[in-house]
Amino acid sequence: MATVSYEADADRSLLADKKVAILGYGSQGHAHALNLADSGIDVRVGLREGSSSAAKASEAGLKVMGIAEATAEADVVMILLPDTEHEAVFAEQVAPNLSDGDMVLVAHGFSVRFGYVVPPEGVDVGLVAPKGPGHLVRRTYTEGGGVPALVAVQQDATGQARAVALAYADAIGGTRAGVLDTTFEEETETDLFGEQVVLCGGLTALVQAGFETLVEAGYQPESAYFECLHELKLIIDLMYEQGIAGMRYSISTTAEYGDLTRGPRVITPAVKAEMKTILDEIRSGEFAEAFVAEVKGGGSEFERLRQTGKDHQIEKVGAELRQMMPWISAGKTKVEDASGG
Ligand code: NDP
Ligand code: MG
Ligand code: MG
Repeated sequence: MATVSYEADADRSLLADKKVAILGYGSQGHAHALNLADSGIDVRVGLREGSSSAAKASEAGLKVMGIAEATAEADVVMILLPDTEHEAVFAEQVAPNLSDGDMVLVAHGFSVRFGYVVPPEGVDVGLVAPKGPGHLVRRTYTEGGGVPALVAVQQDATGQARAVALAYADAIGGTRAGVLDTTFEEETETDLFGEQVVLCGGLTALVQAGFETLVEAGYQPESAYFECLHELKLIIDLMYEQGIAGMRYSISTTAEYGDLTRGPRVITPAVKAEMKTILDEIRSGEFAEAFVAEVKGGGSEFERLRQTGKDHQIEKVGAELRQMMPWISAGKTKVEDASGG
């Protein structure tokens, strides 16, 4: 059985005399920094020179300094930069400023799991990974809740690594929802698999293919949009609240019979075999290597694919229909800020 920790299990006093540095002030960075500050933790934000985020962080009342300086000052250093940037920033600005007994934290195991970041022996290395986008990590905290999180320890130099990581998860609100113990391997591999196969890649490809099939058969794109995209949220909410069986209880028997008999014809054994191949590519480091190479090479193929997605007919139809449903957009995260979990 998995270990799940709640507020009473965390010892927040372990952070009381520690200085924490948050490197980066993006989706996760702003949320961690603000939640820690509101939890009474001594936090500073480390940013690159000329950072466009410096003003935002200072205006929010946070101490802002350079990445090297913040690392040197801190006992706990949380790296919240894009995963492809960890290697260079860690080697050049973080590693030289670590002392024995410090703790290096990440919010996703990618850079450590695939060997882009190799911390020195005398430091603790841990993971505190909220299972949600940064904006939700901040919003739920201010509302008195939290986003579930994972903790893991890769290197325990002090003997206290897990306890400090759990205290950190507590201070950003994670223990209010539940914090699950895992390993760097499990977090990294399941996170990549989930987003590639189910949450992002599988889902978006499924929605687009369903939409295209209806439009190509001559149905109105507006109908296809409502059926294949808009209604998803209602189904997902039911699954989120009551599981798949609970969702099936709520839908019509017609929908339920169609689900049970047709679903396995869409997700065939061949599709599952492809899922296994994708998992193998994640585990072997092949995906990581391809991703890092693409970004380092300027990301032109990445950008081309992104643009193809934006040009899809479903986006134009959807934008028009959503304009007529203003309540959907109320309080929404701006698209450019909404990087995923
Ligand atoms: P963002 O892309 O939002 O991070 C942007 C921040 O990184 C900015 O402050 C930016 O600086 C800084 N930055 C970017 N490149 C560099 C560089 N070369 N040198 C110095 N600073 C740089 O990251 P996320 O918050 O999306 O992700 C951070 C980590 O959290 C990743 O490991 C990710 O996997 C993990 N994670 C993210 C989730 C999410 O919700 N997005 C969910 C769970 C985990 P500037 O302000 O100067 O532009
Ligand atoms: Mg229907
Ligand atoms: Mg992810």
